[in-house]
Amino acid sequence: MPHSIVLLPGDGIGPEVIAAARLVLDTVARRAGREIVIESCPIGGAALRQGLPPLPPATLAACQRADGVLLGAVGDPAFDHLPSSERPEGGLLGLRKGLGLYANLRPARIWPGCEGAGPLKPEVARGSDLLIVRELTGGLYFSEPRGIDRDRGVAFNTMRYSVGEIERIARVAFDAARRRRRLVTSVDKANVLETSQLWRAVVTRLASDYPEVTLQHMYVDACAMALVTSPSRFDVVLTENLFGDILSDEAAVIAGSIGLLPSASIGDGPGLFEPVHGSAPDIAGRDIANPIGAIASAAMLLEHSLGAVEEARAIDAAINRVLTEGHRTADLAGGGPHVSCSRMAELVAAALA
Ligand code: NAD
Repeated sequence: MPHSIVLLPGDGIGPEVIAAARLVLDTVARRAGREIVIESCPIGGAALRQGLPPLPPATLAACQRADGVLLGAVGDPAFDHLPSSERPEGGLLGLRKGLGLYANLRPARIWPGCEGAGPLKPEVARGSDLLIVRELTGGLYFSEPRGIDRDRGVAFNTMRYSVGEIERIARVAFDAARRRRRLVTSVDKANVLETSQLWRAVVTRLASDYPEVTLQHMYVDACAMALVTSPSRFDVVLTENLFGDILSDEAAVIAGSIGLLPSASIGDGPGLFEPVHGSAPDIAGRDIANPIGAIASAAMLLEHSLGAVEEARAIDAAINRVLTEGHRTADLAGGGPHVSCSRMAELVAAALA
């Protein structure tokens, strides 16, 4: 059976970075003799421009049938005046819900030669290669009761986790650690929060199923500091929704450019893979975007949705080779010579061979 992948190019630089990722996907699949059927569907502003809702039912149905979904970006200033559910971004929220995605995976690594590109000192950033595994559907953002009582001047939210929710996300982290350097750092606030005490107990119990993986616990405030003072000490960072939201954006600075960052959101069905960046309307249509975040997201799709670990590793190695040779897109070139988005894709595809 051929594998099926749905591409959702979306808005702004989305179509440019997805075209780049597609070239690399096609090349690696051809080399491996893997048959992949690729379908492209509208989402976000691109759907609105065709007179469709931001998440057309046919797009959602195609995604639900696929093995994996690769998204560019959504967001178009032309629709910023619409109510939030009708805006392009509403399409992405609907898609995440429709696919039942409960785990968000955000790798942050330093690619060769990019040690000085971000705000961290090169000697601090060097050697960093971590993966944040964030619970995506529970905790403070979704638990009830929640509300605001304007008459009394109070507002409240609830942080609730069940044993099942914690086990489910912890397994994602332990499984990922098995394929990496076999260290899980579970991040909580167990000195203050009962949810964290349950979290810590469940993760500790589950660790006995993974004897080859070392488990550490860390308080979230200590972790926030360590991520920017000694990021290379981490392998897999496992955490709940709110902490993960904050820590994954903090960890993003390690890489040096937002254009380098991939992500994966997974549930029990098809996963959604997307670069971390948005539609970048300021540079859209100029073929200058960095496509590496999208290409690395395609590698994550191969690994997580198709089980094509070797092909995923081959893409990572090709990105590594191209950056080691000194090729840079504008965001990484610091005003120096640089290659276009499409040229970077050709270089990565050629480096696969
Ligand atoms: P953004 O990520 O689009 O851009 C922030 C800055 O980073 C811009 O200066 C942009 O030029 C630069 N940048 C982003 N990606 C780059 C790349 N690949 N190569 C080089 N430079 C890159 O964030 P924003 O400006 O806050 O948002 C723009 C639009 O994207 C908004 O409509 C927003 O709602 C949407 N958005 C979508 C997503 C998503 O689709 N997942 C995520 C964030 C923002």
